[in-house]
Amino acid sequence: MTTATEAQNFTFQAEIKQLLHLLSHSLYQSREIAIRELVSNASDALDKMRYVALTEEAYREPGTLEIVIDPREAEGELIIRDNGIGMTHDELVTNLGTIAHSGSGEFLKTLSGDARKEADLSLIGQFGVGFYSAFMVADRVQVRTRSYRGETGWLWESDGTGSFTVSPVEDPLPRGTEIVLHLKQDSKELATPGRIKEIIRRYSSFVPYPIRLVSGEVLNDQKAIWVEPKNQVTEEQYTRFYQHLTHHTEETPLWHLHLSVDSPIQFHAVLYSPPTNLERFGFARLEHGVNLCARRILVQSDCRELLPDYLRFLRGLVDSEDLPLNVSRETLQDNTVIRRIRTSLVKGVLDRLDQLAKDQPDVFKTFFAQFGLMLKEGAVVDSMNRERIARLLRFASSLSEDPEARVSLEDYVGRMPDDQKRIYYLGGPDLASMKKSPNLEIFRRRGLEVLYLTEPIDEFVMNALGSYGGKTLTSIDSDDLELSASGKDEKAVVAGESAESKGAESGFSRVLDLFREAVGHRVREVRESKRLTDSPCCLVNSEGGFSTQMQRLMKLANKDFPEPARILEINPSSPLVRRLCRLSANSQHDAFIKQCGLQLWSNAMILDGVTPDPEDLVARVQGFMDEAAEKRSPLILA
Ligand code: ADP
Repeated sequence: MTTATEAQNFTFQAEIKQLLHLLSHSLYQSREIAIRELVSNASDALDKMRYVALTEEAYREPGTLEIVIDPREAEGELIIRDNGIGMTHDELVTNLGTIAHSGSGEFLKTLSGDARKEADLSLIGQFGVGFYSAFMVADRVQVRTRSYRGETGWLWESDGTGSFTVSPVEDPLPRGTEIVLHLKQDSKELATPGRIKEIIRRYSSFVPYPIRLVSGEVLNDQKAIWVEPKNQVTEEQYTRFYQHLTHHTEETPLWHLHLSVDSPIQFHAVLYSPPTNLERFGFARLEHGVNLCARRILVQSDCRELLPDYLRFLRGLVDSEDLPLNVSRETLQDNTVIRRIRTSLVKGVLDRLDQLAKDQPDVFKTFFAQFGLMLKEGAVVDSMNRERIARLLRFASSLSEDPEARVSLEDYVGRMPDDQKRIYYLGGPDLASMKKSPNLEIFRRRGLEVLYLTEPIDEFVMNALGSYGGKTLTSIDSDDLELSASGKDEKAVVAGESAESKGAESGFSRVLDLFREAVGHRVREVRESKRLTDSPCCLVNSEGGFSTQMQRLMKLANKDFPEPARILEINPSSPLVRRLCRLSANSQHDAFIKQCGLQLWSNAMILDGVTPDPEDLVARVQGFMDEAAEKRSPLILA
């Protein structure tokens, strides 16, 4: 530990400097945020002190833990004091200036460019740089602090431009931290008891320690809503508590869940879904955000052990009487109490979502648009709850024209004709190209619903589920579709038979042979298609193999993923194929028919999102164009 006797000078870390510059020029309205952040820091310091008192013999008697606010109107100063854990010299230097919290860069990003909005400033606490908001309201900040472990107190001082000083304090300081804000001209009104009361009531009513004025008046009610019976808590209190936990003062959660469980483990929990999923906007992966308390005392904030990763977006608090206060962070993972709480929480959340889908479909829809991806992640990884999660999933459907509409597997099964044995789906790079897939033709013809998989993860979900309600989930590009021999299929039968003259029919097997010769090892088989009406050909996959979309994904992940041989199906009733059949009577057209076979295969691959052998393909198309142009030239001359 350093024992300096004189003031030492330090330069702020570069990102912090930038941040300070932005904050000191922030608009007036967001300045209440500074008070909230400093009070929240004080409350954290008290949490830590309470924890130390409970776990370290030597600090058994911490006294009454509280926050005192001293508005000095005449001096234009506002003082916020706590008797929490305090800071040593080195903690002061690292925490307040020289080490940039990883969040500061991200926070700067959200503030830059067009997004530089007032509302964004209120996010500051989430990025772990809340302290610096002091410079939104003050042009000089002093921090006097003494760590519970230290003998000496320290004074940190800065005008928020480039540097700060740290010097020892001669007079004995009480344990804890005191922040003195020398208010800017336009923020002096913060130094009045009236304003302070208003701000504390608005932002800090859930701080679990008394916040009082020097006069003694306590400003917050410290109510622990999670231990109250549900019917005693108002919607507004729930929302306020969410805002308190997340530092999102403008945000209303989409839904909340209040659980009070007595056995096998006693616990209370309030969990919230935020309204938006920041991961979708390119932010980093969300961190867990549920606090763990034991008998109302915070044991760990943002505890990762309480929920599976796919529910990491939830915010809230869990409080159990069955947890020892000194449960160490290292052993949380193997703790049986935590494991049981986790199981109940997951069940509670899934029940809540079922209920939401039933009672408030619009809210559920919004929720699913934001967090559906995470539920899908759950369906893949959480085998215990897979069936339950599957019920909550929604997919785009061939029966709906609205690209935003989503259906559940339950809806699908409910609409299935009696003789339909499977649930059909199609994956593809995007909705528009999926709708053009030739493999859909037979489903259109028979009026069978097909689910469109719009997200890459969907395919993994289908593979993980395997079936739903006893119906196998089947990709429509798979070899065996198990379509019933339906009477509705007449058009195809007629089309198949009307392969005109006998000549054309026998020609078809000749064409298939020529195609086989041309396409060769590129496919496993070339055969007549029973599923096409309009398109000349399509590719299908062997039963049990990967669907085309899945192969694409595997290929993206691993360049060397072998291209599996697929089946090329040819539609005998397509006009092009019929012409080729007629041409096949004369062997002088063999070479041309083979070229057509190769090109049909290329076309099918391209529709699936793969471009095979581009040089060959270009040369071939060039050849077709030459031939067509040549046929036209005598007409022009004539
Ligand atoms: P955060 O609180 O999110 O970590 P801040 O910038 O607000 O980010 O604070 C940085 C660090 O400074 C805190 O993590 C804490 O260690 C320390 N700190 C801030 N205020 C206090 C305080 N009142 N008492 C003790 N430590 C504090």
